[in-house]
Amino acid sequence: MTTRPTPHVLVSGAGIAGTALALQLIRSGIRTTVIERAAAPRPGGQAVDLRGPSREAAERMGLMPGITRHQLQEEGLIYVDAHGRGYGRMAMEDFDGQGAVAEIEITRGDLVEVIAEALAEASALAVDEAGEPLLDLRYDDAIASLTQDADGVDIRFTSGRSRRFDLVVGADGVHSATRRLAFGPEERYATPLGGYGAFFTMPSPADLEPDWFSMRLVPGAMLGIRPDADPATSKAILTVRGPHDPSLRRDRAAQQEVVRQAIQGAGWHADAVLAAMEEADDFYFDELVRVDVPDLAAGRVTLVGDAGYSGSPLTGMGTAMALVGAYVLAAELAATPGDPAAAIARYGAAIAPFLEQAKKIPGGSLSTMLPRTKLLSALSKANVKVMLSRPLRPLMKRMFLAGQGAELDLPATSADAALDRVSAA
Ligand SMILES: Cc1cc2nc3c(=O)[nH]c(=O)nc-3n(C[C@H](O)[C@H](O)[C@H](O)COP(=O)(O)OP(=O)(O)OC[C@H]3O[C@@H](n4cnc5c(N)ncnc54)[C@H](O)[C@@H]3O)c2cc1C
Repeated sequence: MTTRPTPHVLVSGAGIAGTALALQLIRSGIRTTVIERAAAPRPGGQAVDLRGPSREAAERMGLMPGITRHQLQEEGLIYVDAHGRGYGRMAMEDFDGQGAVAEIEITRGDLVEVIAEALAEASALAVDEAGEPLLDLRYDDAIASLTQDADGVDIRFTSGRSRRFDLVVGADGVHSATRRLAFGPEERYATPLGGYGAFFTMPSPADLEPDWFSMRLVPGAMLGIRPDADPATSKAILTVRGPHDPSLRRDRAAQQEVVRQAIQGAGWHADAVLAAMEEADDFYFDELVRVDVPDLAAGRVTLVGDAGYSGSPLTGMGTAMALVGAYVLAAELAATPGDPAAAIARYGAAIAPFLEQAKKIPGGSLSTMLPRTKLLSALSKANVKVMLSRPLRPLMKRMFLAGQGAELDLPATSADAALDRVSAA
């Protein structure tokens, strides 16, 4: 067991979870190397919610001023038919900011930028006794191999370098390579939910109700158009039912064909969405999977964010779990920097109840949310109308509160006080 007072941590993946973790680690004086497979930060993605514990984590990390600056104007969710006529509304204020649209919404890309700015600021101050920066952030690199013993983890990078670390954290998303190398194959931890999600930017259609997230349900699919930070553009969101098909992973043409087949001829703005999809430079497509890793510690390797826990974008909680997980892991490492193995055991135990709740899909499952037949789809539409009617609103509100973790507290950590001091400094 190492007796060094501060560990050297390797974080693989510079998404939300990886950069938020690095921010808190260097603020606590912990040397941190972050590697990202992409050549530059990946700014894409639609609006993400902050509520309850994730908002508190963002506050404690000092991110709220930046988030507020980029906060989206979003009034709520409106269900529309093939002609764009609304038949059900979930206004943000009727649900106290706890419905499908939360009080605080920010595009994923803007959140990536806010954390990157905080990280650059913290990095300028975080140096060791020799004046060397505590943060080493590298793009275009990934873990090629990983071997560990009781005292550390030896890493060979795809760039050809090798180095030993005290702790390795996989923050490399749903298809985490770190998880595969240290915990086992993806199939053991990721459960396909029977569909796919796609997100991209499109020109804003002229007749949309401004500042509302509009959604059209068709048999086996959902097409949404959501406000963007720039009113001239919107975010297209698609959820499509379909069988598990690994061959889709890196085939953009085949992915777009899945989307096309699902919404072609669906009326409303389906044609405009399909035309924009072909031009989009931020087209993102992935299978909807749930990730469960029962023990988040494999020796001196752990996971944060989608790599370790995800209920899929259907929960709206991916970013929340990433922020809460990063905050708690950093707090535990700051509490016992000389014993990272104990810190990651406490991290796993502290967040487990929160994750269990946050991974629940508010609508139940993809098959209930998006029935395939015309008849069941019409029934589902009628159900939306009833559930969003005034008398049933309190029930819907309770369902969202229970499903989206807003009633949960930020998991207590053994180092809250210590981290609050660094965050405020
Ligand atoms: C471009 C993009 C757009 C997204 N859009 C949406 C969206 O619109 N809606 C939604 O619900 N969710 C979206 N997500 C997922 C969402 O960001 C996560 O669910 C959530 O924020 C948790 O973040 P994370 O950091 O765990 O994972 P991610 O945000 O997926 O970040 C993982 C990071 O790890 C990097 N990486 C992957 N493999 C390796 C490797 N082998 N070595 C090093 N680095 C690696 C990735 O390039 C990425 O930067 C998007 C993710 C990305 C990357």
